[in-house]
Amino acid sequence: MAGEKEYGVAIIGAGHAGAQAAIALRKEGFTGTVALIGDEPDPPYERPPLSKDYLKDEKTFERMLIRRPDFWADKEIALLPATRIEAVDAAARRLAVADGPAIRYGKLIWAAGGRPRPLPCGSDVGLRGVHAVRTRTDVDRLKVELPAARRAVIIGGGYIGLEAAAAMAGRGLDITVIEAEDRLLARVAGADISAFYRRRHEAAGVRFLLGTRTSCLRAEDGAIAWVELERGETLPADIVIVGIGILPNVEPLLAAGAEGDNGAVVDASCRTSLPDIWAIGDCARHRNPYAGGAAVRLESVQNANDQANVAAADICGRPAKYEALPWFWSNQYEVRLQTAGLSAGHDEAVLRGDPETGRFSVCYLKAGQLIAADCIGRPADFVQAQKLIAAGVRPQRAALEDPETPLKSLLPV
Ligand SMILES: Cc1cc2nc3c(=O)[nH]c(=O)nc-3n(C[C@H](O)[C@H](O)[C@H](O)COP(=O)(O)OP(=O)(O)OC[C@H]3O[C@@H](n4cnc5c(N)ncnc54)[C@H](O)[C@@H]3O)c2cc1C
Repeated sequence: MAGEKEYGVAIIGAGHAGAQAAIALRKEGFTGTVALIGDEPDPPYERPPLSKDYLKDEKTFERMLIRRPDFWADKEIALLPATRIEAVDAAARRLAVADGPAIRYGKLIWAAGGRPRPLPCGSDVGLRGVHAVRTRTDVDRLKVELPAARRAVIIGGGYIGLEAAAAMAGRGLDITVIEAEDRLLARVAGADISAFYRRRHEAAGVRFLLGTRTSCLRAEDGAIAWVELERGETLPADIVIVGIGILPNVEPLLAAGAEGDNGAVVDASCRTSLPDIWAIGDCARHRNPYAGGAAVRLESVQNANDQANVAAADICGRPAKYEALPWFWSNQYEVRLQTAGLSAGHDEAVLRGDPETGRFSVCYLKAGQLIAADCIGRPADFVQAQKLIAAGVRPQRAALEDPETPLKSLLPV
């Protein structure tokens, strides 16, 4: 058809995973044409600062760019202007575009990430005052409204909600965080970490409503006015941030016949069930050796980058498997959390150090084996825990809980 272009590799999604896949293809020596196709108006940028220093106005957008603007052309990577892929025809190797000619591909990397999960009561991100924190556009919109706001309600006590609370605290706002579980970060961290963050936020004046669900958002004159809770109470709000997780953007891929459910299912080389289509990053569901082989979807920069490298190597004919140890970080106030491994399914949590000092770790064990560690202000624990987890060590509890015993001394000799 007229105007249709064809690329050796088309990458859908110009976020962390997509950008890294394009970079890695060139590093692997791929000489064919590469298109990086995303639906955001900006060139690839780092998402983590959105809820941290970018929201606090301590980092400019230019400093968040994954590569300098002319990098893509230098590497002969076609960075298409905002383009949304609506459908995939895997047999014809064609991509239907919202407004414009279809795109043909030789190989396809699906790196479309996720979108904010809507509130069950039908939250309306778009209603004045109601926000998500997923894209630069989201945060710019939030930053425009913040100066006039007095009361902020954050729905969701996970990393995004807590980072946003920390970034907004200290500007005279009344901030309330609503969390359905009975503790913060319940999905991703142990109780000691939850309690530590709760105290730190409360010291900054943030209020928590735990074990609490919202029933609906009420608007007045086209703007958010109240958040209604299931238990009947109403909270006045000028700003609402909805941070209750994401839904993977895989519908076009699944409609094309790819196997999937809460993400596109991929094998160890990040291949989907469709020929010559890989899926990577937040939208890929893979069997992870550090989750006991369970199928998981990870939402982290590490996962996005490492899966991108695997897919690029596989496309270039170099055998590669995704078996990297997961790691993650979060910055709130002066507190830097570094996480090694995946703690889900642990049956024992060992505290290492005193949380009151602001320097401690929590080590997670499953059937005696170290599977993860959350490290606050203890970077050496983070580095050494990675080695212990990779080695499948079963440490003595007494040695683990002694903060003076270096974790590396627990490695087998
Ligand atoms: C506020 C925030 C803070 C975070 N902080 C941390 C952190 O501290 N540490 C950490 O490890 N991780 C953090 N993360 C998670 C991390 O940013 C993600 O795991 C990572 O961005 C995933 O990369 P991705 O490429 O899979 O998805 P994304 O970066 O989301 O990129 C996907 C892109 O695809 C586009 N797209 C979707 N559908 C289509 C379509 N049909 N056609 C074209 N384009 C499409 C999307 O708009 C998006 O631009 C944070 C995330 C957020 C939102």
